[in-house]
Amino acid sequence: MTLPESFIAELETVLGKEDTQKYLSLFEKNPYRGISINRLKTTPEKLLPLLPFSAEGSPFYRDGYYIPSDADGVGNNALHHAGAFYVQEPSASSAVSLLEIEPGEYVLDLCAAPGGKSSQIASMLNNTGLIWSNEVVRNRAGVLLSNFERMGISHGVVSSCRPEVLCQRLEGCFDKVLADAPCSGEGMFRKDNDAVTQWSREHVIACANRQISILQSAARCVREGGILVYSTCTFSPEENEETAEKFLELCPDFEPYDITELSGRKTRLSNAVRITPVEGGEGHFAVRFRRKGSSQRVGCVNCSKANNKEEEKLAGSFLEDIFRKRPDMVLGIRNGKIYLLPHDMPPVEGLGVIRAGVLAGEFVKKRIEPAHALFSSFRPDHFRRVLDLSLDDSRLDDYLRGLEIDCDGEPGYTCVSVEGISLGFGKCSGGRLKNKYPKGLRKV
Ligand code: SAM
Repeated sequence: MTLPESFIAELETVLGKEDTQKYLSLFEKNPYRGISINRLKTTPEKLLPLLPFSAEGSPFYRDGYYIPSDADGVGNNALHHAGAFYVQEPSASSAVSLLEIEPGEYVLDLCAAPGGKSSQIASMLNNTGLIWSNEVVRNRAGVLLSNFERMGISHGVVSSCRPEVLCQRLEGCFDKVLADAPCSGEGMFRKDNDAVTQWSREHVIACANRQISILQSAARCVREGGILVYSTCTFSPEENEETAEKFLELCPDFEPYDITELSGRKTRLSNAVRITPVEGGEGHFAVRFRRKGSSQRVGCVNCSKANNKEEEKLAGSFLEDIFRKRPDMVLGIRNGKIYLLPHDMPPVEGLGVIRAGVLAGEFVKKRIEPAHALFSSFRPDHFRRVLDLSLDDSRLDDYLRGLEIDCDGEPGYTCVSVEGISLGFGKCSGGRLKNKYPKGLRKV
């Protein structure tokens, strides 16, 4: 692969001649691959022995692991279907480590699709507080939602809104904000030739201009004393250090928040880190800031909704039938759809919200048809009826392919899980389970 000369010249100013040569020599090796384990569904102790490939801890995130570059069928693995892990290039996991997420916090991921970093944030929040994931490109927001459901995120919002509109409305609503901005993608060069052919100096400059505007929007949502992390998967100083410096000039109510705890390469900014293939990742830059002062986040409203009484009663008995232990969430009914919502949420109207909380089901005539997300979002021990399949049970592959399978449990809607991790559902009757695994997710 031939890299643009002006890219190499600039890289030398960042890495120095010796490490630039090391970087270039790494094009003869395979790109790094990794996964991040999702603690909403499992733990590293439980998952790692079940994986059919090796996994070695990464220095960039507490639950990040390297996997072999030739590992086969990773996305088709049943544990991946069940959201036990997310396939994520190791250095991409670094930005979330810098957010220092604590349970109960409200976190905005402003440029979120396909959802790797949102999945990490949700895993650290452990379905407390809230993760609001926004993706301006509508069809990418659909992929984000699908990943939300797979990962079992119940305390979340998915929206597709322009950053300036979203952030004006959600001013001061979040403890932590991540702006993982679109960039010139130099960190993709080893794995994607198109990223090389699409690269130009003009594109770098255009990206830098867009990034500063995204970052200014993102800043508005951070409460006083809250943390803002900006990240890219590119190496250029214009899109990284210079954007960070310009941001501080434009937003003087933010200050650098130094990084001491993360592996990677030092930069000229003490609050930033860069990872290149030399450090063991394809390429990431992350910088963090703190908003000066100290105040509580604002703007959340209690979600208790005035539902239609008759629908509420039907929904209540539907949930009673599904759950042995009903999650502590608010029941919301809107346009014939039933949701389980976190107790306190920022306002959602007019912000392109595609999903808030968990879609539990839908009224179809006088009946309620359960939604896949209801079963993928909670642990099996919440459900009244569970069919747990081990990895070597042949019914597992049949279930993932959409086939009917044997099920000797009591009749009714049944959570299907793999090795104790919820996957989806089906309807059990007469010793058989009618398959409800969504068509778009099935193995082919
Ligand atoms: N954070 C994501 C993850 O970990 O999976 C990756 C995000 S990717 C680097 C940047 C995202 O920003 C893309 O999904 C892209 O569609 C979106 N984007 C493109 N133009 C944008 C804009 N003007 N404002 C905000 N986001 C934009």
